[in-house]
Amino acid sequence: MSIVSPLSGSFSPGGSPRVSFEVFPARSTMQSDGMAELAQVMRKYDPLFASVTYGAGGSSHQASFGTVGQLLGVDGLDVVGHLTCAGQSRVQTDIVIERYAAQGVKGILALRGDMPGITGPYQPHPEGYENGADLARALIARGGLDTYVAAYPESHPASGSLHSCIGNLKDKLATGARAAITQFFFDNRDYFYFMEQVRARGIHQPIIPGILLIHDFAKVASFAAKCQARIPDHFHTAFDGLTPHSSQHKARACELAAQQIMQLSAQGVDHVHIYTMNRPDLVDQTCKLAGLTQPARIASAM
Ligand code: FAD
Repeated sequence: MSIVSPLSGSFSPGGSPRVSFEVFPARSTMQSDGMAELAQVMRKYDPLFASVTYGAGGSSHQASFGTVGQLLGVDGLDVVGHLTCAGQSRVQTDIVIERYAAQGVKGILALRGDMPGITGPYQPHPEGYENGADLARALIARGGLDTYVAAYPESHPASGSLHSCIGNLKDKLATGARAAITQFFFDNRDYFYFMEQVRARGIHQPIIPGILLIHDFAKVASFAAKCQARIPDHFHTAFDGLTPHSSQHKARACELAAQQIMQLSAQGVDHVHIYTMNRPDLVDQTCKLAGLTQPARIASAM
């Protein structure tokens, strides 16, 4: 029996959540080899899709197309391409949409993006899509691709408040987008509080929680501060004195991510999105610890 989850969609009571993964594009032959290994690990967990990031301003678009193509070549893997509209005209952005579609992506994550090196208030390209909502609207009008948008449980840094950030999310999902994927967060209470506010505002689409695998705590802490993602004290304690590539660092990262996933699952979340940091070892261990193994599906995928 499938019932409607108050959180992210429909789920079967007692089942483990489905998973999707996010990867960065490979930029060298060595990284492509690493991607092949990552793809095999991701596939073991029968993901709903793997998504590939895209550099704002089009900086990494060739690498993104390359990785999208590589993942599409893996049997049984659906791919979602990220797409930013910052610094691009509509024509340039539409070319990317058609390129992704021709490659065979299942969907696109519609993003505004940030222009690298530009500070101050965001300025859309004069002939470009204005923001994430505008791009999502164009994708829905085109049809044929699942459209996703981004959500921020701790508010987007440019939003005046969580209330206005949720208003923007409502506009993005009112385009007909299928679901939102959240910025990573480390305290599930932030996600649950956000979801209460989101549902109270009449937003009913799935809001898929994003879980980051901590490959290097110092780097993650610095990036999280820029994204306005709070790191709880027990994370600082857990990584205190550990070097990034040590086995203890890796074990802590996997335990903490798995704990987050299991707590989300216990509250009825049926789909989690894992920011892989392109680390097959962390993906495998976290998914195992979190019980994301789907025996029947894995058997048929081998
Ligand atoms: P929008 O939702 O369009 O806007 C973000 C904020 O700007 C809003 O919350 C609101 O405060 C403000 N805003 C927007 N429109 C208006 C308006 N009309 N008036 C007033 N305020 C407004 N970046 C990349 O470069 N490449 C990626 O691949 C990538 N992947 C991502 C994946 C996920 C799951 C997430 C959560 C983020 C990702 N990002 C990526 C980062 C993203 O591009 C940035 O967070 C960017 O600053 C916002 O993009 P958005 O689509 O959420 O913006």
